[in-house]
Amino acid sequence: MPATHHLHQTPDLFALSDLRGPVLRPGEDGYADEVTGFNLAALHTPDVVVGATGTDDIVAALRWASATGTPVAVQATGHGANFPIDHGLLINTTRMTDVRIDPDQRVATVAAGAKWRHVLEAAAPHGLAALSGTSTDAGAVGYTLGGGLPVLGRAYGYAADLVRSFHVVTPDGTLRESDPDQEPELFWALRGGKGNVGVVTSMTFELLPLPTILGGGVYFPGEHTEAVLRAWTDWTRTLPDEMCSAFTLLRLPPIPEIPEPLRGGFWARVAIAWPGDPAEGERLLAPIRAAAPVAVDTVEEMPYAALDRIHLEPQDPLPARESCTLMRDLTPDAIRTFLDQVGPEVPDCPLLLVEIRHMGGALARPARQDDAICARDANYLLEAIGVLAAPPAAEAIEQATTSLHRAMAPYGTGRTMINIHGTPGNASDRARAWTPEVYDRLRQDKSTYDPSNLLRFGHTVTT
Ligand SMILES: Cc1cc2nc3c(=O)[nH]c(=O)nc-3n(C[C@H](O)[C@H](O)[C@H](O)COP(=O)(O)OP(=O)(O)OC[C@H]3O[C@@H](n4cnc5c(N)ncnc54)[C@H](O)[C@@H]3O)c2cc1C
Repeated sequence: MPATHHLHQTPDLFALSDLRGPVLRPGEDGYADEVTGFNLAALHTPDVVVGATGTDDIVAALRWASATGTPVAVQATGHGANFPIDHGLLINTTRMTDVRIDPDQRVATVAAGAKWRHVLEAAAPHGLAALSGTSTDAGAVGYTLGGGLPVLGRAYGYAADLVRSFHVVTPDGTLRESDPDQEPELFWALRGGKGNVGVVTSMTFELLPLPTILGGGVYFPGEHTEAVLRAWTDWTRTLPDEMCSAFTLLRLPPIPEIPEPLRGGFWARVAIAWPGDPAEGERLLAPIRAAAPVAVDTVEEMPYAALDRIHLEPQDPLPARESCTLMRDLTPDAIRTFLDQVGPEVPDCPLLLVEIRHMGGALARPARQDDAICARDANYLLEAIGVLAAPPAAEAIEQATTSLHRAMAPYGTGRTMINIHGTPGNASDRARAWTPEVYDRLRQDKSTYDPSNLLRFGHTVTT
């Protein structure tokens, strides 16, 4: 890997002076706001940050980076800020929030910084929906480049499966249109390969005719964890593809942002999303509601655009450590191991959330166009999140996270999902997001489109 490249060793910022957006260096007014993302665990200190206002700014920034050999990172919301950007150039896309809906063609074209919330709000008046994940505060582009595991994944597949085309600027500063016919290799790499081959300026994808869904959470006091987890696991083996669900252990702090009566409690939750007939969804849900005494039940027919009500993800920035293991199955042994690691008998478990999402259904079907997603063989996805409030908590979270994933590894596929992988480690850790074949192909693409390895921050493939 080339040596760290600092701007004081490079030509000045003259070539960036034509940008419409701000160009800021450490210490300048606005720099801190420009670099800070949703996940406060990573403190970004790039040598320069560009607040891109559109495609031209991104082209100019990449041409400058390419001419000066400056490494480049890109950030929209910072939901994936699991690693520090500690030198080089950061392109901030938060100003690029344009969303255009074509209701006749049922497609949306969104700019690099659009959040799912922007897309859902624009699509809803047409009775249309898009495949957002559990938080509509996340960026549509960053999420989709990582495959995009939607709340309604079992019903409709990965968000990346619905992409028609991208506009992407490769590190040499060339703007390209990529779809199944033009630049097909880029199109393959951008769906599941994350930001390894270029900076996407916009993306066009299909929408679904779905004004309402049945969705919400059934919350049980944490002492019933085992009964609920066993009932949920059995239930997942009986379901039609369209029933999407997740089992979650929540150890919630007593803070005002969390509504009563959930505030400060330890809960086992089954969250569901069902796009079919609501009465049929309610009928299917009966075994879950009978699994143990229900404390809170928020399942109801809701506008699709109210998707955030289902998982109740945090809306305010916080320092978080996330991690995941893709699971083949939840055998009785796997359930026992899970309970030993994070169940009610581990009262000082420091993890805010431990979730098992039900995969399969449309998530297991081959993509319409071959892509770089490598999670189709997983039946479940295990995810853990801890909030890094103070140093002792951070150490305890690290230990609990490592211990959980190590213990569950025998039941895993050996891989992670890149969007939820968490802190990118060394090359072999990062490679766990793909099969060896897909990883090799991504490495070749990286050599083609980014031969100087400018896009080298975070979850990159190593050439
Ligand atoms: C509360 C919460 C809930 C989540 N739920 C889900 C979920 O249900 N399903 C799921 O799949 N994921 C989920 N995620 C993970 C999320 O999809 C990733 O963190 C994703 O990277 C977010 O994209 P972003 O642009 O918002 O984040 P950012 O941190 O701004 O970007 C993350 C990375 O995406 C890449 N990137 C972003 N924009 C571009 C661009 N224009 N061109 C090239 N690369 C780019 C870069 O590699 C960048 O480092 C969740 C995350 C959080 C915090």
